[in-house]
Amino acid sequence: MLASYAARSDASPGRRHPEPQHAYRDDFQRDRDRVIHSRAFRRLENKTQVFTRRLSDHFRNRLTHTIEVAQISRTIGAELGLNVDLVETLALVHDIGHPPFGHAGEKALDRVMREQGESFDHNLHALRIVEHFEQRYADFRGLNLTFEVREGIIKHSRDYSAAEYPQLQEYLLDKRPPLEAQLIDLTDEIAYNTADLDDGLESEIINLALIRKNVGIFERFYREVEKRYPAAIDKLRFNEALKRMLDCLAGDLINTTKARLADANIKTMDDVRSAPQRLAAFSDSVESERREAKEFLYSQLYYSPELKRDKEQSEQVITDMFRFWFANPEKLPASYREQASSGNSSLARIVCDYIAGMTDNFINEQHRINCG
Ligand code: MG
Repeated sequence: MLASYAARSDASPGRRHPEPQHAYRDDFQRDRDRVIHSRAFRRLENKTQVFTRRLSDHFRNRLTHTIEVAQISRTIGAELGLNVDLVETLALVHDIGHPPFGHAGEKALDRVMREQGESFDHNLHALRIVEHFEQRYADFRGLNLTFEVREGIIKHSRDYSAAEYPQLQEYLLDKRPPLEAQLIDLTDEIAYNTADLDDGLESEIINLALIRKNVGIFERFYREVEKRYPAAIDKLRFNEALKRMLDCLAGDLINTTKARLADANIKTMDDVRSAPQRLAAFSDSVESERREAKEFLYSQLYYSPELKRDKEQSEQVITDMFRFWFANPEKLPASYREQASSGNSSLARIVCDYIAGMTDNFINEQHRINCG
């Protein structure tokens, strides 16, 4: 049962190129399936989330992270009466614009682009992928996704102003996105704040004592678990505490969002869009616990000396390869050379698009061949 404020596929502004309805899948279900069958989605398997394959191959990569975000989002979306098919589509597409090597790759690509007077942003790149680069249909370029999915891609993790980004004007930049899209930023946080504690512990870069000392929300549940399972081994108690932490974050997000919707008397999608702020949120107390966990992960894990080496290596590979193709455009694949000679995009943007689509393996191999 959909809540009155949920997105409805039959009320969607629809696709850029109108298509006949499918016999038994609605438009959001078809969009989910288009994302899953895209090449950019499959490449997520070989893109770093936090840990490169050097450390282990059972840590999360960007694909398994994406699947975890989708799972958490579906559960929370269903409990809020949202359109779960749209929620799932937005979760599955949320990281599709990431270049190789996680945030280190994004930072390096942005830096080299800025030297050319341009920039790189993974949300804008995700939109270019679904609008232009995926070529699966004879009738049009891209995946021809519904408005709500493209809007959700653009309104993930930041706001763009129409003054600065006139090309995004159609996405109602002065309005809030549907709740289905608002959810994804927060479920992304739930997924990686818990998963990175798990992988961080496994990697032995952080340890249980350090987590207990610095992450209040984890410690709260760990104490409870210690009492309940006095004989269990540490790792199982860790798992039990982490599971409770995830459940607490998800439950708090559901309850706080429900309360905010009731307080603001939200009845329709228009009410959601016109609200002065986003309505999906954690409570103040859980929000500060979430922030504490995140700060811990930044200082002790993401910026740890153990991961620094991988990060620097990743940034070097991106920088070297950008400079290589920028200086030697004749070495680009034929389709990119054609784009370069058409003059529609700058050479910097063409090289950037090429690199951003690569997997970690592919760019490492290119680096070994061309800059080794
Ligand atoms: Mg993510």
